[in-house]
Amino acid sequence: MQYRSTRGQRTCSFLESFLEGLAKDGGLFLPVSLPVFDETRIRSFAKMEFTELAFELLKVFVDGEIPDEDLLAIVTRSFATFQHEEVTPTQHVSHDLSILELFYGPTLAFKDVALQLIGNLYEYVAQKQQVAINILAATSGDTGAAAIYGVRGKKGISICVLYPYGKISPIQERQMLAVTDENVKTLAIEGNFDDCQRMVKQLFTDEKARDQLSLRAVNSINFVRIIVQMVYYFYAYGHSKQSDTLSGLSFSVPTGNFGNIFSAYLAKRMGLPIDRLIIATNANDILARFVATGIYQPHNFKTTYSPAMDIQVASNFERYLFYLYGEDSQRLTTLMDDFARTGKLAVDADALRQVQQDFIAYSVDDATCLQTIQHVQKEHDYLLDPHTACAVAAFEKARQHDQVVTPILCLATAHPIKFPDAMQKVGAQAKEPDAIAHLHNLSYHVEPMAQDLAVLQDKLQSFFA
Ligand SMILES: *Cc1c(COP(=O)(O)O)cnc(C)c1O
Repeated sequence: MQYRSTRGQRTCSFLESFLEGLAKDGGLFLPVSLPVFDETRIRSFAKMEFTELAFELLKVFVDGEIPDEDLLAIVTRSFATFQHEEVTPTQHVSHDLSILELFYGPTLAFKDVALQLIGNLYEYVAQKQQVAINILAATSGDTGAAAIYGVRGKKGISICVLYPYGKISPIQERQMLAVTDENVKTLAIEGNFDDCQRMVKQLFTDEKARDQLSLRAVNSINFVRIIVQMVYYFYAYGHSKQSDTLSGLSFSVPTGNFGNIFSAYLAKRMGLPIDRLIIATNANDILARFVATGIYQPHNFKTTYSPAMDIQVASNFERYLFYLYGEDSQRLTTLMDDFARTGKLAVDADALRQVQQDFIAYSVDDATCLQTIQHVQKEHDYLLDPHTACAVAAFEKARQHDQVVTPILCLATAHPIKFPDAMQKVGAQAKEPDAIAHLHNLSYHVEPMAQDLAVLQDKLQSFFA
């Protein structure tokens, strides 16, 4: 299978696109032609165990570049680290609330699903191709930890993670700092997540720096993350008991960088009978405003109880725009250049109609988020994390407006124990999973660094050497 950049200047194979991450022309990779599954194939997926399904789906995208037995070994190893035999089980919390739980991986967030696999895939490629794999990532809290746990101790790979100092939860920080493997480094940056992401992007788009440092990406700009995240949509379709028939299923997805929901969108394009997709944002509502008005424009950054969604510019959004513009790289490039220049992007009325067919979107403020955690706990004895609460609240809003008629799954993207501030606010106590008990006694000291690209480059030079 061939992959191409959304900007149209780059075509390559699966493994090349995996290693390149962000395409050299500044765009994002997508398959040249997306596979589409018929009903029989979708039904056959529905009967599979998670690992088998993951293997079958990945095989389509890998398309022979990794021998089947190696791919199966990678997939099996990746999901064996999950603390639930179903990997991503569905909980039927009440007759009208079902939760697709994605937090059974080592760092208790949905990003483990993709990053456990990506770590193993990098290790495999490092050995096969004898290339240096130096991963540089920005995190709003969960990606960094998940990426670190995906690659810690693996041969031929090093990772450096940038996080916004003071803007992630203590548990998230401890999860990262607890890892003392030599191939892992974390850097606290004075700024917010977008600042961290910008520094990473600057190094990736500086071809000289990137080649010199052999930089690789794990941010959701890497298309392999999008592929792996599709697995649980296909899996949920077969394994949530509301969907015995091939009728539609809807999903409400807590959204930040547009990676998770884009996986759902792509699964739908590939034939999965998804009815409605709800984008749930917090007060950083750029995507909700876009779906309402067709104008994509960052506003003031807000810090909320759901920090993994405190994002102004969603890095995967370009992938969606590419399809919205009929896979026309030229128009897309003009649009993105305009956005880079003016900080604003607008689609026309026809495109907006399409957007509103593709997505429902609601922004959920902090107060509603906390109320949702409270009422779901009171009524159903189920504790939502603040990100998941945004998904549930957005679903409730959509239901009030009669926008969703098919069975719906709300995605639980993190375990509530990771967000003690919100839990304290609602007077709830999350039950601590064994996986993080050791973090309590960790002592650590952090020196944040300024947003200085040259200093960062120096640090990376000596770390990756
Ligand atoms: C990363 C993250 C999100 C947002 O996912 P995107 O793919 O960036 O939209 C939501 N919730 C949690 C807990 C996360 O870690």
